[in-house]
Order: sequence, then structure tokens, then C-alpha cells
Amino acid sequence: MEIHVLRLGHRLPRDERITTHVALVSRAFGAKEITYSGQHDGSLEKTIADIAKNWGGKFPISYNKNFLNVIKNYKKKGFTIFHLTMYGIPLPETEKKIKTSKKILVVVGAERVPKEVYELADYNIAITNQPHSEVAALAITLDRLQKGKELERNFDKKFKGKIKIKPNERGKTVEKL
Ligand code: SAM
Repeated sequence: MEIHVLRLGHRLPRDERITTHVALVSRAFGAKEITYSGQHDGSLEKTIADIAKNWGGKFPISYNKNFLNVIKNYKKKGFTIFHLTMYGIPLPETEKKIKTSKKILVVVGAERVPKEVYELADYNIAITNQPHSEVAALAITLDRLQKGKELERNFDKKFKGKIKIKPNERGKTVEKL
């Protein structure tokens, strides 16, 4: 399964931390790359590039102002579009259908999301029908899509970074490779 993430409507300075966390969760939980729209943010891109350089793996982050085109292009490339929204269908009710999707673009918003996104999405998926956070919604979705594989010890092997953590019951074991 190949998962990409699209973050809509990045706002400076309001969304600096949250979009960074959306990107960090995307990377750590197995997404292949992230695109963001809204305001361009060079320091966000540098932060994520530095994380990938030190902790391993390739995790491209790109900016595209025209998020509707991004979604349309992903559809042309055969990706299934999952738009996360509290107004959507509860995730457990869509799991049977989404099992067949091999390439998925997960879309999360920031400010009010235009109706075109809801219309273009193959699935508008709710992680509860309560307002909460794009970071939590994304994490749960990535976990369910991968059946929790990203939480297993072996998953970490794919990153091959300069810094690696050895799981420790009590203390901290950090290996600098
Ligand atoms: N409008 C407020 C703002 O400007 O910050 C809140 C936006 S909301 C926290 C941002 C995104 O979080 C939404 O677009 C959606 O992608 C995601 N989100 C929030 N609650 C969700 C839920 N219950 N299920 C799925 N996604 C959710």
C-alpha cells in the first residue's frame, strides 16, 4: 500500500506547529510523501528535510498552491482520495470498502475546506463525528490503513537513519550510526 498526504490551507504563523506535526506523523507512520497548500513555508520544508536526513528514509515535502489540481492529478494516477472530516462517514464503516485501495491520498484540512474537496474525494471519512485535530485524525487513519504495522519494532528498520533508537524498558538508548 502506498500512502501520500495532502495538507490543505497552511496558515502562517497559526499552523506552523500543527502542519509540522502532520508531516512528522505522516513520515513516522508510513506515508511516502506530503504535499501542502496554503502559504509557502520554507522553514517547515527545512525542518522536515532535516528530520529525514537525520532519522533516515526519503520523505519528500512539496508545496502546491492549487490543491484541487493536486487531488485531480492524484486521481489520474489511480490514487483513492480519502478526505478526513468530522462531517464524514465513520472510519469503521468504510474499512471494508477501502481494503481494496492500494494507492491512497489522505487529505487533511486546516481552515474551512471548500465543497469541491468533498466532491472530489472518493471517501469523506470521520474519525468520530466530533471536532478534534488533523494530527489525531491522520494518525488513526494511517494506523488503521496499515493494520498497526507502523507501530511494530521491525517497522523502524526501513528508515536507516544516522540516529536510531533502541527500544528500552526504562532509559533512553540512542545509537548514532
Ligand atoms: N476550522 C478550525 C481551524 O481553522 O483550525 C479547525 C479545523 S480542523 C481541526 C482541521 C482538520 O482536522 C479538518 O479539516 C479535518 O481534516 C481534521 N479533523 C478534525 N476533526 C476531525 C474528525 N472528527 N474526523 C476527521 N478529521 C477531522
